[in-house]
This record gives sequence, structure tokens and C-alpha cells, in this order.
Amino acid sequence: MTDTLLEIDRLSVDYETARGDLKALRDISFDVRKGEIVGIVGESGCGKSTLISSILRLTAPNTRFRQGEVRFKGQDLLQLPERQMRNLRGADISIVFQDPMQTHNPVLSIGQQMVDIQHRSKASKAEKRARAAKMLGAVGIPDPEARLAQFPHEFSGGMRQRIAIAMALMSEPDLLIADEPTTALDATLEVQIIERLQELQQEFNCAILFISHHLGVIAELCDRVVVMYAGAVVESGDVREIFHDPKHPYTRRLIDCDPGHIKERARVLPTIPGEVPDLANLPGGCIFRDRCDQAMPRCASHVPPLIQLKDGHHAACWLNHKEAAE
Ligand code: SF4
Repeated sequence: MTDTLLEIDRLSVDYETARGDLKALRDISFDVRKGEIVGIVGESGCGKSTLISSILRLTAPNTRFRQGEVRFKGQDLLQLPERQMRNLRGADISIVFQDPMQTHNPVLSIGQQMVDIQHRSKASKAEKRARAAKMLGAVGIPDPEARLAQFPHEFSGGMRQRIAIAMALMSEPDLLIADEPTTALDATLEVQIIERLQELQQEFNCAILFISHHLGVIAELCDRVVVMYAGAVVESGDVREIFHDPKHPYTRRLIDCDPGHIKERARVLPTIPGEVPDLANLPGGCIFRDRCDQAMPRCASHVPPLIQLKDGHHAACWLNHKEAAE
């Protein structure tokens, strides 16, 4: 029996616009195994949001799925009737957003919202409330019984995000998608959320797809990482191996820009010079060429294929092809 939970298989997604088709995702393939934590990292515009909305099939009306499959427990979600998809969202697959206020209703108490979210359960209201309090305790909210009566604005940002995680785990999903859940928090709260996610993942044994533009956070939490650039996977593999021996210049630059990697005091954090290319007008050859300090003549004319370098470590860069680099 396979332990693969989610398989993204050669997925290509465009947005139809007045300027032409925006190539938001191109030939994306990776998988998430049961109980595993996989990170997706890249700058804004690399395709992370389109990937999440494609998995959940919550896409804009101008989205066009050009090729590929999104298989969850072997079933292609792109072919599933909407009713089945609705049952799956929030039950088998849950999501935590960057801004917890997107998750909470400001005019309902947290307790009411946590009871409402159990609408599929046959349990009594008292049992649902007790379960809600237990979940609040599990994510580290002190005095959970009393705090059920409070409203979202009565909690700090870090607590609201922990409550959002508690709500996402109420249904005991097989897959939790965490969409930049720590981006709006300061560094101390970020560490707390990461530690709590690690503990909860062990307790609930769910897989986590963790989206971030911060490679240091991914390295702390994840087993494997998928590095995306301009709608394509440029590197993927074991997180420790990639962090210590990146094989794509873009990954290397992301690591150099990571606050945890900066040794000297600086007023301004380093960034990667240049911009992500226009997705409606992608250049030929390597998509990272205009920002790459190791580009070679071949990079302008030939697209580097994503090849396996070692067990499970893939990269798309001509530097890894001996004959091309000579
Ligand atoms: Fe840089 Fe060339 Fe590698 Fe692209 S293929 S990342 S341009 S060296």
C-alpha cells in the first residue's frame, strides 16, 4: 500500500487575461506522504497561492487547468464533483491562512465558531464545546473553558493564529495546508507557532503542506522542501540537504537572504536583485537567467530540465550538467 497522500502530477495552470495567458504554474510535480511535513518556498509571484487554490479548487473564474492532476488519496481532485469537493474541504484537507482574521468571524465568540465548525458531528452541543476547549488547550491557550466566551479581538495575533490552527485541526484532517501562517507574526511568536505545529503534527499524525517565503522557517519545520520560481519547481528534496548543499542559484540566493544566515548586523535585509519575470511573457531558456550571477550562454537558449541529482534531490540548472557547464 502506498503512503502517498497528495500527488501533484505535471500540473499546469494559466490565468486568462486581456494581456494573454498568465502561466501561473508550469509542469509542477511533487508529492506529500502521510504524516510528512513538506515546505513550499519562493518569493511573491512564484505560484504558491495558485498552487493552494488549485489543490482546494478555489480558483478565480479565469483559471484554466491546462494539464496534469491533483491526486488526493489516489483520486484526482480536478475531476471531483463540486459537492464531493465541498465535503473534502475542511474535513480531509484543512487550511490555516496568513491572517487569522480571515478565519475568524469578528462578531461571534470563539466558542460559538468552534462549535459551528463541528457541524458534521452528531455530538451534543455540550460535547462539542468540551472538545473545543480541549483543542484550545492543545494549542496552548491558557484557561480554555473561560476563553471560549471571548471574541477574536480579545486575543493577541499569536493566540488568534493558534486558535486558527486549533479550528483547522478540529476535523482531524489528513492534510493541513498552512499558508504563510507565521508571516504576520514577530520572530518570538513565529518560533512558538512552529514548535506548536511540530507537536500537533506528532499528536494528530496529519501531513502538513507548509507555504512560506522564509527558507529558515521551512528548514526548522519540514522534512522536504519544494523551491518554486516563476510558476515552476527549480529544486526539491530533503530539507537539510538542500539547506546545506543547494544545487540551484535561486535556492542559494534565498538562503543568503534568510535572516538566520546573515552573520553581520545590517539595517536592511538583503534581497535578490531583479524581479520575477512577467508570467504573460516568459523568456526563453532558463527563467532565472536575468537574475543569475552564474548564467552561461546555454542558459539563454535552452530550458534546463529538472533532473535527479541524488536520491530524491532534483534541480533544474545547467550547472549540474557537466557537459553544459564546460
Ligand atoms: Fe543560472 Fe543558468 Fe542555472 Fe539558470 S541554468 S540558474 S541561468 S546557471
